[in-house]
Amino acid sequence: MPDAPRPPAGLPGGFSEPEPQDGGAIRRRESDPSRRDLSYPPLPEALRVGVYDNHTHLEIADGEEGLDWREQLDRASSVGIRGVVQVGTDVPTSRWSAEIAAIEPRMLAAVAVHPNETPELKARGGLDDALAVIDELAGRPRVRAVGETGLDYYRTAEDGRAAQIEAFEGHIAIAKRHGLALQIHDRDAHEDVVDTLLRVGAPERTVFHCFSGDAGLARLATSHGWYLSFAGTVTFKNAENLREALEVAPRDRILVETDAPYLAPVPVRGRPNAPYLIPHTLRAMAAVLGTDPSMLAAQIASNTEAVYGRWSDEPPLPSEPPRGADAGRFGVDA
Ligand SMILES: [Zn+2]
Repeated sequence: MPDAPRPPAGLPGGFSEPEPQDGGAIRRRESDPSRRDLSYPPLPEALRVGVYDNHTHLEIADGEEGLDWREQLDRASSVGIRGVVQVGTDVPTSRWSAEIAAIEPRMLAAVAVHPNETPELKARGGLDDALAVIDELAGRPRVRAVGETGLDYYRTAEDGRAAQIEAFEGHIAIAKRHGLALQIHDRDAHEDVVDTLLRVGAPERTVFHCFSGDAGLARLATSHGWYLSFAGTVTFKNAENLREALEVAPRDRILVETDAPYLAPVPVRGRPNAPYLIPHTLRAMAAVLGTDPSMLAAQIASNTEAVYGRWSDEPPLPSEPPRGADAGRFGVDA
């Protein structure tokens, strides 16, 4: 996500479980309602060949009324979205992601502490404990990635960078230890992200989530075998650099994501984003590449399974899914 929301007051260290809010989500997106259309956009025309949303935050409610995560997945299924990777950004949301993925066949999980959270955690002396919890969660069923982790020099001043790099290296080590994919958040930090990956050695499957570089970075990253995941930003009018990156990337290194509830694609830019809106982004990408959307969807679905494995590889636990207000308190192994 572009901007990590602060945990609600009263959650020092992020270790106590947050209370569920709208629709069972455990966070709410901060935004100024007077500046955005807060209604969920209509369903786009369904894809003929399905794809996955490999980066979403269903734990963050947005809109006039947040959608329940099952409603989100039902809408996504109805337009050809085969599954999602649900991404945590701190300990509570990573735990929530792992717990829902364990019981939901359409969801896999990614777990991590977001780089915007790590300088403060480090200053409080809580970074090692948080990484130990992420390490434990990384070993759980249907957790297939460590992320989002990386570097964010847009929101973090110079004095927070050492903590971000330390946490990034810690996450890379966890991904390698568990044989998981790595999902990288890179904002205004391309050079140091690449340097860190090359210095410590990137995990076998490494994804630049919400790719924000240009054709040069796309060539460099894919020359190392890393994947580029394109979000709704690739549809934005001023994002010519992203479309150039898409054009030069080898087709077998391309993924698609929402980063919902952020970054809704054109023509619904600014409104709450959701996995069911992927068809807009996928069709725009196909237009850039001059290819058929179904051909591109088949390629991206195959790439996504190469990174995270199949959604059906580990069957979900035969548990009654948490409902509404109980979602945030549900514990699979409790
Ligand atoms: Zn994200």
